[in-house]
Amino acid sequence: MTIPNVTPRGFGVPGLPAAAPGTTAVTAVTPMKPASPSDPPADPPGASALPQLQPPGFSPESARQDIPILHRTVNGHPLVWLDNGATTQKPRQVIEALGAYYGAANSNIHRGAHTMAREATQMFEAGRSAVAEFLGARSPDDIVFVRGTTEAINLVAQSWGRDNLGPGDDILVAALEHHSDIVPWQLIAEETRARVVPIPLTADGAIDQGAYADLLSSRTQLVAVSHASNVLGTVPPVKEMTALAHRYGAKVLVDGAQAVAHFPVDVRDLDADFYAFSGHKLFAPTGIGALYAKPEILQAMRPWQGGGNMIDSVDFTRTTFAPVPHRLEAGTGHIAGVVGLLAALNWFTSFDREAVAAYESTLMTYAQQALAAVPGLEVIGSAPERIAVLTFTLAGHDPGEVADWLDRDGIAIRAGHHCAQPALAHYGLESAARASLALYNTSEEVDQLVASLRRLQEAPRAAG
Ligand code: PLP
Repeated sequence: MTIPNVTPRGFGVPGLPAAAPGTTAVTAVTPMKPASPSDPPADPPGASALPQLQPPGFSPESARQDIPILHRTVNGHPLVWLDNGATTQKPRQVIEALGAYYGAANSNIHRGAHTMAREATQMFEAGRSAVAEFLGARSPDDIVFVRGTTEAINLVAQSWGRDNLGPGDDILVAALEHHSDIVPWQLIAEETRARVVPIPLTADGAIDQGAYADLLSSRTQLVAVSHASNVLGTVPPVKEMTALAHRYGAKVLVDGAQAVAHFPVDVRDLDADFYAFSGHKLFAPTGIGALYAKPEILQAMRPWQGGGNMIDSVDFTRTTFAPVPHRLEAGTGHIAGVVGLLAALNWFTSFDREAVAAYESTLMTYAQQALAAVPGLEVIGSAPERIAVLTFTLAGHDPGEVADWLDRDGIAIRAGHHCAQPALAHYGLESAARASLALYNTSEEVDQLVASLRRLQEAPRAAG
């Protein structure tokens, strides 16, 4: 797949040094190695029995070499970034694109009658084309730029929801959803007197397909489902769920926040009505994301915010609106964010996506087997189709304590409710630890995680 590489004249200002930018500055703020907890990372016992990783057609090193931050240290240890579910790290191509944009090409878009406004507009619209191609959309006109997944879902709830939901209507929301795919529906349901109905999960953390089929009815207006769960890793059968929803005339919104960095997405193959994602979970900057909507649905959507850029004409008796997608993008957008997103898509799609997915799946299997050797560790969620997300509890330790311990070894994971309280409640939990992997993670990093967790389990005995 090729994504247009828009390089306007004068766009070559080097944003940052090419070799490991930030290393010096970052190392300077890195605290000295603490007295505890770690010895040098050791192989977990039995590691030699683990399957060897043989990535077919993809090497994580080819991605790592582009990502400066992965070469910093934290607390005296090389950083092991296993918090990709929260946000991904950025390749230098993205960092440099941002610097170059502000250094040589900064301008507002659409409205300016000068060369730089035209160049910035071209880049912004090239970003839209790249997103359309990345998602398999028919046209760039089907893509609305937003701040991220949260804003995309709120946009749909406020714009589409207000016109299409009413008293007695059902919005079916999978019980594994992130809060940003629950709360916007609750807000609009309260306003329109519709109902939010959770679709229950099975014991392994999959969506209960029997219960889903039973919940669907002529009252169902919308089904909201993640393409991959941020806490259980579950990849639901979204295509089949969509086909079933369509039989009842319901629309389907797919939250792709956790999916897009892990496997290829084709919105037309899914037949999704809406698809949302955040750039920062896809190696792009924060504050930029996209909403795809089917053209006929988008055409009918009314503005949800008013302001500049989204109008045709304004007077005090009558305002007319621009065509979509601009009608849904009030105000000055995150132009630099789109430039960064374009650079991220160019970078990410330069890898063989199927090979990346296969590598991550092998790494996930390796991690599952390695973690099984940690006494008292229990992984939450075991659905057959999963992305490389490992949410776990460790007997005798609060998840926050686990994250703190690992942090002292330079290993970043997340602890807490992961903005998915109903999914954790399904397992009787309020909090858990989560290691979430990306294409640049390695089996050695998994070994370091496992070794550190084993030391934590041994620490109380050693102290006693
Ligand atoms: N949906 C899922 C599945 C997520 O994992 C997240 C973020 O963690 C979101 C939505 C919200 O994304 P953002 O905060 O970028 O809007």
